[in-house]
Amino acid sequence: MKAMVFEGSGRPLRADQIPEPEVRGGQVLVRVRACGVCRTDLHIVDGDLTKPKLPLVPGHQVVGEVLEGGTRFERGARVGVPWLGWTCGECRYCVSGNENLCDRARFTGYDIDGGYAELATADERFCFPIPEAYADEQAAPLLCAGLIGYRALRLAGEAEALGLYGFGASAHIVCQVAVAQGRRVFAGTRAGDDETQEFARSLGAVWAGDAAAGPPEELDAVIVFAPVGALVPAALTAVRKGGSVGCAGSHMSDIPAFPYELLWGESVFRSVANLTRHDGEEFLALAPTVPVRTEVETFPLEEANEALERLRGGALQGAAVLVA
Ligand SMILES: [Zn+2]
Ligand SMILES: [Zn+2]
Repeated sequence: MKAMVFEGSGRPLRADQIPEPEVRGGQVLVRVRACGVCRTDLHIVDGDLTKPKLPLVPGHQVVGEVLEGGTRFERGARVGVPWLGWTCGECRYCVSGNENLCDRARFTGYDIDGGYAELATADERFCFPIPEAYADEQAAPLLCAGLIGYRALRLAGEAEALGLYGFGASAHIVCQVAVAQGRRVFAGTRAGDDETQEFARSLGAVWAGDAAAGPPEELDAVIVFAPVGALVPAALTAVRKGGSVGCAGSHMSDIPAFPYELLWGESVFRSVANLTRHDGEEFLALAPTVPVRTEVETFPLEEANEALERLRGGALQGAAVLVA
């Protein structure tokens, strides 16, 4: 089958013909129709996340059709394969409803070959049915950008004035959910990124501007999606007493030292890691009712490197998706 293969950081993905994956018990074989490109893929390719299997087929926002295997889905069913690919089911995190933190978790497109290919296998217990309202390429960004963004939104609690710093694939989805919930969204972007600020306003943000300079009023919470550590003190400055700052990316540049005063007043600072299946079920049921509409730019599978490059350069509005 055709696949884009990662062989080590500093090297572009290589278009190759590789053997079709073997289907083991409890797995489904999926014909990939669309696979979202996530910033985590970029962190893997750039060597920020240091322990991928090698060689690796990246991609963890896979929408495809079940060809065979497993007992949960009928042949031809449309499923989504997310980042969380397998958990042990018995560690302290798994048994307490926190499988996103499983000690032995395996991740799609990192520990397990993912969706930058014509075919992929996945543990059927970790796949999601895809809501009918979405075309394949529209659904793909829901599976990580949407899911993890939703988890971060849930952990931000009742925040009415909500900052989203870094307005890419995740934030453009979370913004729509937050606005539908009656929250006011403040979108922080790079200074002078008028196009993205306009995009955020078009999705209902009440303010869009330079994240580093901060919004014109105090916020209840900020979710930082950009992998930029310097935005953490900026976000802590922007939140009120008792406010929260959550970092939703899988990697971030070092956070600069900041005065304790920024945390004083019972501000809460946390990361948001991975997803649980429960997050997925909840979000995929919610998305069509908002309704969340995803803004996507599609690329043929062979152009995965170009898609990653556009993501790196901040040249995308919404999400990049590879299509079969
Ligand atoms: Zn576990
Ligand atoms: Zn992701």
